[in-house]
Amino acid sequence: MSTVTVVESKTIVDWLQGLAADVRGQADHLTQLDAAIGDGDHGINMNRGCEAVVAALDEQGADLPPGKLLVLAGRTLVSKVGGASGPLYGSLLRGAGRALGDDAQPEGPALAEALAAGVKAVQELGAAVPGDKTMVDALVPAVGALRSALERGDALGAATAAAADAAAEAARATVPLQARKGRASYLGERSVGHEDPGAASTALVFAALARAVG
Ligand code: ADP
Ligand code: MG
Repeated sequence: MSTVTVVESKTIVDWLQGLAADVRGQADHLTQLDAAIGDGDHGINMNRGCEAVVAALDEQGADLPPGKLLVLAGRTLVSKVGGASGPLYGSLLRGAGRALGDDAQPEGPALAEALAAGVKAVQELGAAVPGDKTMVDALVPAVGALRSALERGDALGAATAAAADAAAEAARATVPLQARKGRASYLGERSVGHEDPGAASTALVFAALARAVG
C-alpha cells in the first residue's frame, strides 16, 4: 500500500482526467439511471462537463497549485453544464479548491477538510441532506470515511480507497429511498427502486480520486 501523504497538482490532474475517462465509459449507464427517475441526461451532462474540465486544465492549468486547479475545474463545470449537476459539482470543486488556497502540497487532512467545505457548498446550493436521494447521500459518507481513516492514521491511499468504498455503498443504498430533491422528487413514490444518478456519479468521483492518489 502506498504511503503518499500529500496532494500535488499532478494528483488533481490525474484525478480529473481519470474521472473524465470513467464518465466517458459510464455515460450510458448514468443516463439510463437518470432516464428512470429524471430526464435522461446525467451521463451527457457529466461527460460534457468532464471533457470541458480536461480541456481547461490543459489550456490554463500549467503551474497552478492543487486548490487553484480545483477552482478552475469547478468554474468550468458551472459554466459548461446546464443540468443541476453542473452547478452542484462545480460548487463541490470550487469550495474544496478555495479551502486549499495556494498550498502547493496540502496534506491529507487538509484535503479532507477542503472536500468537507465543498460538500457544505453543495448543501448550501441544493438544500439536500443525506436521505433525500441525491449526490449528497454519497458525498457525506465518502468525506466522513476519508476523515476517519486519516484520523486513525491511514495513509492517503488507504483513506481515499475507504472513501471510494463508502461512496459506492451509499450510492447503492439510494435504491430503496424516495427522492425529496431534484427532478426525481417529482415522481414521488415512483422514484423508489432506482439508484440515484448523482450518487452513482459521486462514486465515480471518489473512485477516480483513490486511483490518482494510490
Ligand atoms: P438535472 O436534474 O437538471 O437533469 P442531472 O441529471 O445532470 O441534472 O443531475 C441529476 C442529479 O443531480 C440527481 O441524481 C441528484 O443526485 C443531483 N441533484 C439534483 N438536485 C439536487 C439537490 N438539490 N441537491 C443535491 N443534489 C441534487
Ligand atoms: Mg437529468
